[in-house]
Amino acid sequence: MSSTLRWADDPKWQVAGKKLFSRSSFVRSCVDVKDLPVNSLPEIAFAGRSNVGKSSIINALTNNKTLARVSAMPGRTQQLNYFQIADQFYLVDMPGYGYAQAGRREVMGWQNLMKDYLRGRHCLLRLFLLIDSRHGLKKLDEDFMKFLDSAALSYQIVLTKIDKLNIGEQKAIQEKMAPEIASYQAAHPEILTTSASDNIGIQSLQAEIAALIARSPTKPGY
Ligand code: GDP
Repeated sequence: MSSTLRWADDPKWQVAGKKLFSRSSFVRSCVDVKDLPVNSLPEIAFAGRSNVGKSSIINALTNNKTLARVSAMPGRTQQLNYFQIADQFYLVDMPGYGYAQAGRREVMGWQNLMKDYLRGRHCLLRLFLLIDSRHGLKKLDEDFMKFLDSAALSYQIVLTKIDKLNIGEQKAIQEKMAPEIASYQAAHPEILTTSASDNIGIQSLQAEIAALIARSPTKPGY
């Protein structure tokens, strides 16, 4: 029976996910790809517009409020922040894009860092692209998705702040986005819905990641 469930909904993976996320620690911030850890663990990346709720999701996943505060520290918002989850994988917090106050040079700098990272990181299993459920896909998100498609990187949309929508609105945004996402080759067809503040969908996201890590050819011991 359980084989017909999505990983995100499968109690087996939900239990594994909860266990997996019970230990987390900050590793380092990287301003250049040469600072990245040597590839010893698989990686899962989180990206999205600034203010989409990325830090809140990372806090909720790890049940560790001090972790994402590290990423939010001045200077670190434009870097790749590495967290180690158990001894199993690195969670990579990518710079938020679309920050209105960022200067052109700053934007170019982090765009280059992101592109260098995403083009060359073979141990990256999946990127979770966070989208504010109230706004849906914006041009910057679509541009980023086109880049991910061109780099043939597997990614999945995670809707955030779903608590801000009523049931009808939640259904409407998912129905609107499903065909939009289908036009992107490298996008995973399933959309995950979350609320960090109301703890909705966090267990499912943990389960999805646990299944990915368990099936990774680069997991420790391989
Ligand atoms: P980041 O810039 O992407 O790291 O976003 P943050 O995690 O700092 O969140 C930006 C704002 O959205 C903050 O005011 C959060 O309190 C709020 N926020 C984040 N997640 C949620 C959520 O699930 N529900 C609601 N209602 N607000 C949220």
